[in-house]
Amino acid sequence: MQTTATILDGRAVAAKVMEQAAARVAAIQGATGITPGLATVLVGADPASVTYTRMKRKRAEAAGMKSVRIELPDTAGTDDVLETIDRLNRDEHIHGILLQHPVPKQVDERRAFDAIRPQKDVDGVTTASFGAMAFGGEGFASCTPGGIMTLLGHYGIDPLGRRAVVIGRSPILGKPMAMLLLAAHATVTICHSRTRDLPEVVREADLLVAAVGRPRFVQGDWIRPGAVVVDAGYNEGNIGDVDYDACAAKAGWITPVPGGVGPMTIATLISQTATAAARQLDVSLDD
Ligand code: NAP
Repeated sequence: MQTTATILDGRAVAAKVMEQAAARVAAIQGATGITPGLATVLVGADPASVTYTRMKRKRAEAAGMKSVRIELPDTAGTDDVLETIDRLNRDEHIHGILLQHPVPKQVDERRAFDAIRPQKDVDGVTTASFGAMAFGGEGFASCTPGGIMTLLGHYGIDPLGRRAVVIGRSPILGKPMAMLLLAAHATVTICHSRTRDLPEVVREADLLVAAVGRPRFVQGDWIRPGAVVVDAGYNEGNIGDVDYDACAAKAGWITPVPGGVGPMTIATLISQTATAAARQLDVSLDD
């Protein structure tokens, strides 16, 4: 099938965000002599999570940050995770804390997320950060939705006045995505597993974000001609939540998988860690 859509190149935009983050890290070091630090906390050894945390640490180091890796066994309980977070909250060398999602079932993930000091919540997972996203406050955005907003902005796609449909309502992706689009003045519909006539709802969308966790779930004939299609999904075998070829033939703009939303997520984490360090160290950055 012929592809007509313009590709939203997350890899290229993420590289720019990373370059800017590295410059900010250098500026912070120049002003304070302190190297911004990101701590990654991994509970258990889920292979995808092991890979994600490794990628995040590598990116942090590539931007000139210090990365501290904490690994807890898959038998760890809520108290063990809370204790670790409490220690990192008080550690002045750590400016950002990432607790890799998902944690094993016996850990109360919401309690663990909410234990992170909002100033260090560079992954944007706390209830306080969600409130900031909803009310346009100073907190940090959830990284995947935040990265999607940066990507749209880079291509001059303004959500203002658009009909946006988000498929998925998870705390780290669908819900914060909807909040950010609403804050940017889109008219937002959130769909989920109980939504009736989903294809009909999606056909209304000028801007669609798919965050479902099902390979090639969104079909080409659901796409309004010329729509912006953002595929936040990532399934085994590098497959998104959107049937790419069929949707690209209808869409005006589309993100590929891989190379779309994924690199933006990590770049957002690194950028927000630089911002967190600047705020904690009282350094004002011009950009
Ligand atoms: P999740 O917690 O499993 O949430 C999936 C959402 O999809 C839920 O809200 C669910 O509805 C909804 N859903 C499931 N089946 C549906 C159906 N048949 N029709 C309509 N809605 C349906 O997943 P997530 O953590 O948000 O992740 C979503 C996707 O994004 C996954 O592919 C994941 O790998 C990917 N992801 C990518 C990145 C990245 O950096 N690129 C980061 C995080 C996640 P209910 O609420 O009703 O159950």
